[in-house]
Amino acid sequence: MLHVNENYSKIKPTYLFAEIAHRVTAHQKAHPDAKVIRLGIGDVTEPLAPSVIAAMHKAVDDEGGKGDFHGYGPEQGYAFLREKIAKVDFQDRGIDISADEILVSDGAKCDCGNIQELFGADVKIAVGDPVYPVYVDTNVMAGRHDIMLLPCTAENGFVPGPEGCEADIVYLCYPNNPTGAIATKAQLQAWVDWANAKKALILFDAAYEAFIRNPEIPRSIYECAGAKTCAIEIRSFSKTAGFTGIRCGYTVVPNELVAYNADGTPVPLRPMWTRRQTTKFNGASYITQRGAEAIYSPEGQKECKDIIDFYLGNAKLMKDALKTLGYDVTGGDDSPYLWVNVKGDSWEFFDKLLKEANVVTTPGAGFGKAGEGYIRISAFNSRANVLEAIERLKKVL
Ligand code: PLP
Repeated sequence: MLHVNENYSKIKPTYLFAEIAHRVTAHQKAHPDAKVIRLGIGDVTEPLAPSVIAAMHKAVDDEGGKGDFHGYGPEQGYAFLREKIAKVDFQDRGIDISADEILVSDGAKCDCGNIQELFGADVKIAVGDPVYPVYVDTNVMAGRHDIMLLPCTAENGFVPGPEGCEADIVYLCYPNNPTGAIATKAQLQAWVDWANAKKALILFDAAYEAFIRNPEIPRSIYECAGAKTCAIEIRSFSKTAGFTGIRCGYTVVPNELVAYNADGTPVPLRPMWTRRQTTKFNGASYITQRGAEAIYSPEGQKECKDIIDFYLGNAKLMKDALKTLGYDVTGGDDSPYLWVNVKGDSWEFFDKLLKEANVVTTPGAGFGKAGEGYIRISAFNSRANVLEAIERLKKVL
């Protein structure tokens, strides 16, 4: 008899975005003339940077025979991209990461989900609550059901510390989705010291690092002393450069990073991740990687920064407006997300904004128990829509 992987039946149903879509559709049906503004989903709205477009056009020509044709590429990513990443994202910032420690992928979601394959079924996992659900669901699918939740609350500034954390692997994400919280160097250093002392691992999701403008806030976990022996960093071009539809990201696995066999023998993780990727993944496309390479040119850097500044401008406008209306708001300064304390039930508040203001947000309860009482507002939208949404919120709240 064919048996299913019963772990799948233990994953919580992902009803959040389906439920939001259901409620929005019902509202639109009842009010066909309503102009609904979507500040719920975390997808970019601005077009790709001109440098990226030009590089991808050129790469299409390469593939069309006007330049060097490329078939299968290296599974770990082309050297031209890995070298630029190592230089611009790390070495130019004084961080000692080399190209061979970087593995390019088709986005951070896959890497966040797949990385757990390197570890034993019995490792203890810890995640924040509220949380980006991929960390939890992929571990549950693999049979790890007993996941420790680290509450992210107003009391701890939405940045839980390592005190009392008994896990072998902790997922940290800063700037955070959904809370928009950022972690200081001291807060991250405490986690690094904890991980090195416990022989534990930090999986650091830096998908939103490009939004950090405060020079005191680390953009990489490797800015902390000792992080190369206890942390993997996962990055995405989705929000950095509008690649949500193009699909590209990368994972850094330092050469010195190890986990252990049952007999205590250290096993380097970089060759394991390389083996995993070369076995199950055939590389991001040449055209995509040429586009990603263009992000690292001086023009590409400026263009991408301008786009992110634009989203941060949206975030600031909304944050200021909500604060003026008397709401406590976290995030939005170095992050595209606002985490708003709605002083009540998050689904009720969601419904109120949908019905009375035609504005879609995301109820915090959908990201975990500790998300109840909050909504997430995304700054990914046009300026006109953001301004219009603010006017509507002012009338309703
Ligand atoms: N990590 C976090 C925290 C995210 O919010 C997202 C996307 O929203 C991802 C990873 C996935 O990024 P990608 O588009 O590169 O798969």
